[in-house]
Amino acid sequence: MLGTPQCPANIQKVIDNLIAEMRTHPANGQVADYIPALKNVDPDSVGIACCTLDGEVITAGDADKDFSVQSIAKIYSLVMAMTRSDDQLWERVRMEPSGQAFNSIVQLESENGIPRNPMINAGAIVISDIIVSRYSTPNHAFVQFVSRLCGRDPVLVDNTVFASEKKHGHRNAAMAHLMKDFGNIHGKVENVLEHYFYQCSLSLNCSDLARSLLFLANKGIQPTTGETAGEEVCTRVDCHRVNAILSTSGMYDQSGEFAFSVGLPAKSGVGGGIVAIVPNFGVIAVYSPRLNQFGNSHAGKWLITEFAQKLGLSVF
Ligand code: GLU
Repeated sequence: MLGTPQCPANIQKVIDNLIAEMRTHPANGQVADYIPALKNVDPDSVGIACCTLDGEVITAGDADKDFSVQSIAKIYSLVMAMTRSDDQLWERVRMEPSGQAFNSIVQLESENGIPRNPMINAGAIVISDIIVSRYSTPNHAFVQFVSRLCGRDPVLVDNTVFASEKKHGHRNAAMAHLMKDFGNIHGKVENVLEHYFYQCSLSLNCSDLARSLLFLANKGIQPTTGETAGEEVCTRVDCHRVNAILSTSGMYDQSGEFAFSVGLPAKSGVGGGIVAIVPNFGVIAVYSPRLNQFGNSHAGKWLITEFAQKLGLSVF
């Protein structure tokens, strides 16, 4: 007898089976190559971690392999910016799905330099501007924030990825300059971009990701034991807002389909990671670097979809 479908032994069995089944599938998708540093990964890595509200982390496959979290970092930076801002933040970046690629510049001109949401690059650059203006040492504050949430000190920023992001970040620079021209970037563009690229270069593994984001499954309070136990990371309202934005905009231009077929707030990164928040249950994090045409991890999306269906997890 395994108890309820959501008991740890059952979760372990489900994810072990999913990883085994995954490995029988033909390899689909391509590793991101927009910067050279992201190409140097094992394309066939696949891992999953599920962290439940009691802090138990259940893993399978390459769950403890570090990888470049890329856009998943946009969750941490949004929470950091929200905790030091009032609702005026939402006049500088909106909360609407964009219906465009994550790095698209086309809406910015017609919408006066106000990005559609904080999960696309333009929005995350505005959020970086807020962090740069509110924290005296933004990069250090960012690493400290994530380290405390992971319980891993210090978390690492991959300097090769960081250098590569800076060298090849022309499109992000173009968006930052356009927003500066509209008055929506207040700091120096160079400093804002430097911080944005730094966030993107964070390396974590599935276990870290799942543990660090538990507060989003628990109304803003980090529930696990250890340094951050019981700490309010963000208010209940901000927790609700982050989850709402993840539900509508977290999976690039496949967010609608993901809500339709899975129904969990989630965020993807072009490094091949995806995190999904299950309110009042926990967090699922997956990694597999081959991406589909939307920039979402091919195997990762399949793993989360199957896991959520098997355990009956959906917010809808
Ligand atoms: N560093 C990437 C960029 O700014 C983030 C891509 C992503 O994971 O969405 O282009």
